Amino acid sequence: MESEEETTDTEESESSVDKLLRDIFGDDDVNERINSEEENTEGENDTDESMWHKVKEDDEEIHLLNDRRFIVGERELLYLIERTTCSECGERIDSSTIQEGEKVAAGVKYQYLCINAHKNKWISTPFYGGKSLVALLIQLMVLLSGASWSKFAAGAKFINLVTGCSRAFYHHQLLYKFVLLESDRFKHIRHSLDIWHKAKKLAYMLGDAAKKAAHRSLLPWIRPTVNHFWYCCNTCSGDVQKLIKKWFKILHHVTNEHEWSGGRCNHSKDTNAGVEKWISKDSSTYREFRKIVVNKEFTGNFQYYTTCKQTWAIENLYFHTLLHYCQKQVSFGFDSCVMRNQLAVIDYNHHLDREIQQARDGTSVPFVQFSRKTKQLVAYDRRVAKSYTYIPDLIATCIRQTYGARREAYTKSAQAKKLDGIATNLSGDITPSSKELLNSRKKRKTCGLDLSASC
Ligand SMILES: [Zn+2]
Ligand SMILES: [Zn+2]
Repeated sequence: MESEEETTDTEESESSVDKLLRDIFGDDDVNERINSEEENTEGENDTDESMWHKVKEDDEEIHLLNDRRFIVGERELLYLIERTTCSECGERIDSSTIQEGEKVAAGVKYQYLCINAHKNKWISTPFYGGKSLVALLIQLMVLLSGASWSKFAAGAKFINLVTGCSRAFYHHQLLYKFVLLESDRFKHIRHSLDIWHKAKKLAYMLGDAAKKAAHRSLLPWIRPTVNHFWYCCNTCSGDVQKLIKKWFKILHHVTNEHEWSGGRCNHSKDTNAGVEKWISKDSSTYREFRKIVVNKEFTGNFQYYTTCKQTWAIENLYFHTLLHYCQKQVSFGFDSCVMRNQLAVIDYNHHLDREIQQARDGTSVPFVQFSRKTKQLVAYDRRVAKSYTYIPDLIATCIRQTYGARREAYTKSAQAKKLDGIATNLSGDITPSSKELLNSRKKRKTCGLDLSASC
């Protein structure tokens, strides 16, 4: 009887720990979020063409990019060539001589004679640095839109679309990598992502301890402790000593000690009202808690966490942008995944201040979606379509990178080579939460993190 009761007890505590961790950090299953993302971007597909009208034409690449491109049927093309005239004598073409010339990536070359036997040719793509520009643009279309080459190529085959070869895509991707990785303007966001993972690790260490029946009293302290960690990162002004000093205050606070020789908590007195779950300094639970807080592995690299951004921004980056570029179901190599992360960050940053779509009466246009998992409705604000105004410049820079590229530029990074052998899917264990209703999301956006419960 007794042991049975204990089991139930532990199970109960396990499920409440898991629930809490899920509340803070979200669910591990991202499929639902990918679906919401698809739903979310609906209506954004018809990107207006104004991004091409605004670009300046003062360099060759942008000039080339400004041309529109069409998908053309072979029959219509031949029909058109039959009706052209010789570039040398102006006479008509002998249509029986039209034949396909040597292969052109993502295009076609026709050779033919006029009735006076002058040689003529027509190629469907301009060349840039000796390469088919259309082929380069298709590669960049796939990469910059976050699509996967293999899916795109498979679909292209279905409609007999000539796309250029897969090898060339992966080959050139290594060149585009430099362009993307050189733009380190967005390092602070990547850095914040690390903090997010760090906080998550902390929550799981505490969660594991709280799952043990003897340390159940840790449960109510998980959220405040994680909040305290964020708070410390956020307020240490980049000073690691300050961060550590602030961090260790939690050791006093949980024991209901808010002033001690050499320090005191920063919260107001009423913060403690209603808190009953203080941990006794002599308890084994306190020793367990202390072990986690002072854990060398955890605190040893605090210097990397001295600047911090709020979590909602990071969650937002993850499920609305990163998953779009780096889907979990698709295996990407290391270089590829690094690049796609960078693309997500660029996309995210450029569209950070997108306005909320407004109805005629000035109200926002929410869209509500049924979450299969929680069996609840989730509301989102619909935002105005993304402008992608950075894309023309990015493409121009990328194709410039292919111009006369040296051989060494085509090599994988050493890290990629090492990892390629080990991992097939490096999209990571990214686990943002997506279940908050619009209200709770808004609350966090306006109030920041709820730090009132920590010192
Ligand atoms: Zn001629
Ligand atoms: Zn305190």
